[in-house]
Amino acid sequence: MPSPLARDAFLKAVRDAGVVGEGGAGFPAHAKYAGTADTVIANACECEPLLHTDRHHMEHSAEQAMLALKQVAAACGARRVVFAMKRKHADLVPAIEASCRAHGTELALLDDFYPAGDEQVLVREVTGRSVPALGIPLAAGCLVANVGTLVSAYGAMRNVPVTHKTLTVTGEVRQPGILRAPVGTPMAECLAAAGGAATPDPVFILGGPMMGRLVDGPEALAAEHVAKTDGGLVVLPRGHALHRNAAQRVEHMRRRAACACIQCRFCSDLCPRALLGQPFETHRVMKAFGMGMELAGEAGRMAMLCSGCGVCEHYACPMGLSPRRINLAVRKAMSGSKTPYGGPTAPDEARTANRDVRKVPLGRLAMRLDVHRYMDLATPFLGTLEPSRVRIPLNRHIGAPAVPCIAPGQRVEEGACIGDIPEGALGARVHASLAGTVIAVDDGVTIRRQP
Ligand code: SF4
Ligand code: SF4
Repeated sequence: MPSPLARDAFLKAVRDAGVVGEGGAGFPAHAKYAGTADTVIANACECEPLLHTDRHHMEHSAEQAMLALKQVAAACGARRVVFAMKRKHADLVPAIEASCRAHGTELALLDDFYPAGDEQVLVREVTGRSVPALGIPLAAGCLVANVGTLVSAYGAMRNVPVTHKTLTVTGEVRQPGILRAPVGTPMAECLAAAGGAATPDPVFILGGPMMGRLVDGPEALAAEHVAKTDGGLVVLPRGHALHRNAAQRVEHMRRRAACACIQCRFCSDLCPRALLGQPFETHRVMKAFGMGMELAGEAGRMAMLCSGCGVCEHYACPMGLSPRRINLAVRKAMSGSKTPYGGPTAPDEARTANRDVRKVPLGRLAMRLDVHRYMDLATPFLGTLEPSRVRIPLNRHIGAPAVPCIAPGQRVEEGACIGDIPEGALGARVHASLAGTVIAVDDGVTIRRQP
């Protein structure tokens, strides 16, 4: 067990090891842990249906996560330290409870609803506080650390950089399971390690079914490589409802919004951000978008408050419309035109009154998504992959891309720094995930394993 580190030494170790938020966002952890908070929460509440990556960490690395959590709490001056998980993992609760007791950490057990693992929702569940619109948990005095990120931070405390990623491979595969893969492993090798697709014409989702990114077939998958932020690969048959939804073009969504949105408000009433009290009414974005007025007034600007969780689109809307994708398209257009949000940010407690009865049960959500048949698949650990070649991205974190510090032809050892943080910028270091020869450097570094 490593000794506790002084604050600056811990932050430096996390920076040097290239730790980023592994829950999806990829925020550099050394910058996040340098904040000030009264409460620190370990987030093991994986809320995407079908993914079991957080559960794997709890089963195999809970002690490491707990030790890193205490370091994070010391770094940001928190007095309250909480480990949050779902009570449905009843078989793991006694061990986690004992570990919490030994480390003076509280245990928070959450129900199985979506999106329990959203940082802002988790802050509300644990502390009763709402994060202001466009804010981060630090604005409510809280720091939320994903359990996988904490395991990586524990590695950093022992001078072990982030070189591997744990992910769930599931859906239409012959052997669903959990894999540990060097960062940069071709996604196609992850699929092969899970026995390959069990459907003749597969499509893929990188991440979970609610917030993941569609990859439209094996050819497109060939260009994808494991990043530190990837938590899952879901395989579906072509033509599945999630595939049809993700393949819609923006103008098609606009026509459908214009002629089929009945302004019923279900999308707004069930929106997890609105239920935290944030001034967000998705049905108004839909109306403005349908009229082509989304960049002209207050309604369209609300799209900036969308987290992209997908409750509106995959669960709430009775007309099968795409408020999530429309919000994200409007948000992108506003960012492109540098249009500021300019609206109120303070949460309104009156809007939170129905939050408890409007939480979305995960089982019902899986039925609605038509992925319920994959919900209870056994996902054993399938081992650590050893690809012959990796392509390690330099830009899959928040902030500036890493600057390569190696050149083609150079030999590197596993764990060597191959991309550094630009001077004075927010960013994350990148390390070689296997020992070999660098064969290409562009917005990623390709390394061929040394025979
Ligand atoms: S739930 Fe669907 S139909 Fe109802 S207001 Fe929202 S987008 Fe329109
Ligand atoms: S995706 Fe829909 S439900 Fe989720 S935050 Fe955005 S508007 Fe609200």
